[in-house]
Amino acid sequence: MNDASTAHNCHSCPLNCGADRAKGPGACGVGGTEGIGDRDPYVTAFVARAARHYYEEPFISGVNGSGAIFFSGCNMKCVFCQNKDISSKITGKPVDPDELCNLMLRLQVRGAHNINLVTPTPHIELLVQAIPLARAAGLTVPIVYNTNAYEKVESLKRLDGMIDIYLPDMKYGGITAARKYSGTPNYFKVASKALLEMHRQCGKLVLDERGMAKRGVIVRHLVLPGSLDEARTVLDFIYENLPIDTQISLMSQYTPPPGMEPPLNRKLAKKEYNRIVEYALAIGLDNLLMQGLSSAVNSFTPEFDGFLE
Ligand code: SF4
Repeated sequence: MNDASTAHNCHSCPLNCGADRAKGPGACGVGGTEGIGDRDPYVTAFVARAARHYYEEPFISGVNGSGAIFFSGCNMKCVFCQNKDISSKITGKPVDPDELCNLMLRLQVRGAHNINLVTPTPHIELLVQAIPLARAAGLTVPIVYNTNAYEKVESLKRLDGMIDIYLPDMKYGGITAARKYSGTPNYFKVASKALLEMHRQCGKLVLDERGMAKRGVIVRHLVLPGSLDEARTVLDFIYENLPIDTQISLMSQYTPPPGMEPPLNRKLAKKEYNRIVEYALAIGLDNLLMQGLSSAVNSFTPEFDGFLE
């Protein structure tokens, strides 16, 4: 249970909404006591799905799949979110630290290469309790922190030593698109500092003898149609602040949800993607994982219709 020093008003993420999550949800949608039984609301999350997942980068998914735990709720409200079914509403089953620990262990028993915490940002309090429990109970696979990168450095510091692989999706490099598409104009200012902290903790990507990710940072960027300047700024930041051989995953899979306005009402053009790849290579960032445009289909989004495989 939380004591008086940690309970009450949540400031875990850059939204700083200050919600008392025992009384009701914060801006991320997480919180409140509805449906959680006698669990402690400060350390309870709803998990929409926990299953092996095959659509991450090859060194994360491997042949057995990544042990993905999809948390409900999110501290960003991206208009093009592919996981709106779980990011904008709270669904799934409640888990407290013991139950999350058990979920991790069950995924390991099923052969998952790692534990992949998807949209973990609002759940720092839960994670700092559950991860040590899982390690003590025999969890040996790496833990992946799969985040939108809209993170506070001080919250990430609480995870120092617990996370093996950071998988931040650096969404924007400027203010305009971040404000317009996600309502977070300070995104890049915040996320760039968070990325440096992730790198301080875990360093460059290290693979094991099977070619699976063991430790390090993999920087994702989803190239959005009509937003090539955003991509260039993100790449410039990596070039200027991280090792030149930082592992980058340049994603092309943007799929327009219904009702989007231009330019988000179309898929990414091949020439747009190629220009960003060429730019990365031109500035010397050649540790690039590229994605075929055929990836831009909804089948990469799992169905959130079952809890555990
Ligand atoms: S994690 Fe959720 S409750 Fe906490 S500050 Fe962020 S939005 Fe508010």
